[in-house]
Parts: sequence; structure tokens; C-alpha cells
Amino acid sequence: MTPPRIVIVGGGAGGLELATRLGNKLGRSKRADITLVDRNHTHIWKPLLHEVATGTLDVEIDQLSYRAHAASHHFEFQLGNFTRLNREQRTITLAAIGSSDGEQLLAERELRYDHLILAIGSISNHFNTAGVAEHCIFLDSPGQAHRFQRRLLEAYLKLNSPQHPKDSLNIAIVGAGATGVELAAELYHAAAELNLYGFADLRSDRLNISLVEAGPRILPALPERMANAALKELQKLGVNVRVGTKVTAADSQGLKLGEERLDAELMVWAAGIKAPDFMRDIAGLETNRLNQLVVNSKLQSSRDDRIFVIGDCAACPLPDGKWVPPRAQSAHQMASLVAQNLIAILNNKPLRDFQYKDHGSLISLSRFGTVGSLMGNLVGGAMMIEGRIARLAYISLYRMHQVALHGWLKMLVISLVARINRIVRPRLKLH
Ligand SMILES: Cc1cc2nc3c(=O)[nH]c(=O)nc-3n(C[C@H](O)[C@H](O)[C@H](O)COP(=O)(O)OP(=O)(O)OC[C@H]3O[C@@H](n4cnc5c(N)ncnc54)[C@H](O)[C@@H]3O)c2cc1C
Repeated sequence: MTPPRIVIVGGGAGGLELATRLGNKLGRSKRADITLVDRNHTHIWKPLLHEVATGTLDVEIDQLSYRAHAASHHFEFQLGNFTRLNREQRTITLAAIGSSDGEQLLAERELRYDHLILAIGSISNHFNTAGVAEHCIFLDSPGQAHRFQRRLLEAYLKLNSPQHPKDSLNIAIVGAGATGVELAAELYHAAAELNLYGFADLRSDRLNISLVEAGPRILPALPERMANAALKELQKLGVNVRVGTKVTAADSQGLKLGEERLDAELMVWAAGIKAPDFMRDIAGLETNRLNQLVVNSKLQSSRDDRIFVIGDCAACPLPDGKWVPPRAQSAHQMASLVAQNLIAILNNKPLRDFQYKDHGSLISLSRFGTVGSLMGNLVGGAMMIEGRIARLAYISLYRMHQVALHGWLKMLVISLVARINRIVRPRLKLH
């Protein structure tokens, strides 16, 4: 009998953990053929993208090659952009791949599946605000984060040059959720580090960062006490935090805030997410207004139980009527449950229900501090943490992702190499 074919689309926080686990459990013993599809050659954990954007993390060093990882974890990797789903034929379509000079390398392809897992994440939601798509940068992919880093370096070069005697560099960040807040703090950190590398004129008082939020406070998804602590830190750094302020348009010179203007050379949009637009009602599946696929308690799509959906592109209802939040910890928990459920299907065992456990939230304000809350029985509900403990908890989130991918031993080796790199390499990406 041919082994069942399990296809996972999207090798991000959830999809890559799932492929690794299934490869180790089922691929190694040839009980199933596991294929991971991603449109990129390499994986970088998305919560690190604001560090890629500021250059404090070098994507060339920290990225993981899907092909190399697949080879050592008993699954197959297919490079491709998923565009269509045919539920009757049980196939997905991957777009043709071209070279940088326009030559077609691979024609459009179809992949057959017996079980399909959609884990393609989310993109920024600009709510059709005029000019945003053209003029703002999004932090949805390593490519976009890298583009921001290049433009930032160019802007710093200009600021540091006698031919362009500009007073300050204006950067506007729209959306004061975790991404916007973390990026604002990281920008100050990067500027301070650049002082060491010949950008002597780049003082933090010449960095003019505005954080614009339509809601009444920053970090709306987190407890108020935590948001206030983060706000204090941001204000200490000099961030101009503007809450209750809606962006009505963007152009090449900055943002329109109703009647008011906010001039900015660089604009980042980090206000809300949605699943990609082509997912809306894809192949007759049920989606919500954010294009996320509605799932049942087993994380199967509500209209097709051969299709599981995990991570940011899943609309998974919670008992209180809200949705499971789009976070790395949700993607991680969903990947674990779907791995168990797929193994249960192969063993003719009953499937388990997904129970989201909120372990709390952590916000890194770069080297200026970390704030967060831990949830759980161990701490008797919710407990706010700050400083070194919060920093350790924040770092441990990434370490847990690395453990899921590589195991404890390799994670420890990678951490050690990262420490050595901090000594032998520049402290941030300078090109
Ligand atoms: C700057 C930033 C900071 C964040 N900080 C935190 C944090 O501190 N804590 C936290 O819990 N969460 C954080 N998040 C959110 C977290 O990153 C996401 O919730 C998480 O990555 C979702 O995992 P996922 O597997 O659903 O999708 P992703 O990790 O986004 O992975 C999706 C994958 O699908 C691939 N893909 C997309 N479309 C296609 C297609 N059509 N065809 C083929 N492949 C495709 C992509 O290349 C990607 O590899 C942050 C996000 C950002 C942007």
C-alpha cells in the first residue's frame, strides 16, 4: 500500500515545526510521505523580523535552509508559491518559478494530497487606506524586512553626510501592537550601535520616531499595566507616541492624519493582519472577514476534514466567542495538536480537540527592557514580569522554537555559536 501523502503549505512558525515532527515520526519509518511547500528557500522565525529590519539580526546567519532541514528530518521540500486548491481532485497548484532574468525555471505544478495542512500565515492589513500599499513598508517577510534595513542604512548615510545637512530622520510606524512597539525600541538600539561604526553624527536626538495608533492605548491586546510600562520606556527613549490617531492616507512625503500631516522619510505599516486575499472563500471553504479559514475543534477546516489549518491563517473560535490570537505560541500549539491528530488518523484513533493555552505575552524593548505577563497555574493566574526575567522568558520563546526544530543539543550549540558571533562579528548588519 502506498503511504498517505501529507502536504504542508507554509514553513513558518507553525508549518516548519509540524513538518519536522511528522518527518521524524512518520517520514523516517515511511508511514507517510511528508512534503513541505514554501515560497522561500529559507526560514526565519517571524517574530525576529523587526530585528532583521533594523540590522540587529543578520538574516544571512540566522536563516535555516528548508532543503537542508528536510534532508535531516525525513520530509521533502518543494519550493513554490501556493495559488489554488482543488478539493475534488485533492490537489494544490504552485505557480511557475522564474529566474531573476525572466527565464522560466519550473512550470506551474500540481501536488496531490491525502491530507493538506495550510499554514501560510498572514499579511499586514492596511484596510485599503489610500497610498499605504505604495508608500509604506510592511514587515511580512524577510525580503520586506531586508528592504527596510537597506533604506534605513541609506537614510543614515544621508543624515551623516555633510552634503545633506538634515536635522533629523523622521520615521513613522503605524500600529502600536507588539510589532510597532518592538520596532520603535529596536531602531534606537540600532542607531546607538551604529555610532560605533563610523556614524558619529547619528545621535538618538536626531532620530525622530512617531508611533501612531488609532486605538486609545498602545499594545491593545495586552493588559493595561504592561502597556503603561512599555509606554514609559518608549517615552524615555524619545518616541512620539500618538494614540487615538487614525491614518487616513500615505504619500511619498509622509502620512495624513485627518487634517494634520506627519512628515516621514520612512513609514512602516504594522496595524493589524489578515490572511492573504486569495484565501477568501478558497475552493468553497468557510472564511471570516480577515480571510482566515474557519476551523472546527480538531483544527480541520469547517467544510473539509482532509484540510487542517494552523497559525495566523486559521480562524479558531475560543469558548468566550473571541478567536485564538495570531501569535507564534498559537501556531506552535496548533502544530503540536495537528501532528497528534494526523498520527491518530493513521492509527484509526479518535482525534483530539484543540485547547488554546495563553502562556502570556512578552514585549521586547530591545536592550532597554522587556515587559510581559506570564499566565498559568504555576504563577496563579496572570503575573506581570519585567527586566531580566522577562528578557529570559522572551528569549526562551525563540529557543523553544529551535528545540522543536533541532532538539535540545543542537539548540544549545546554535546558541553558543550565536554568542561567539557576537564577539567575532560586527554587532549589527552594516551593508
Ligand atoms: C515583527 C513581528 C514580531 C512579532 N512578535 C511576536 C512575538 O513576540 N510573540 C508572538 O507570539 N508572535 C509574534 N509575532 C507574530 C508571529 O510571528 C506569528 O503569529 C507567527 O509567525 C504565525 O505563524 P504561522 O506559521 O501562522 O505563519 P508564519 O510564521 O508567517 O509562516 C508562514 C509561512 O508561509 C509561507 N507562505 C506564505 N504564503 C505562501 C504561499 N502562497 N505559498 C507558499 N508559502 C507561503 C511564508 O513564506 C512563511 O514561511 C510577530 C510578528 C511580527 C511580524
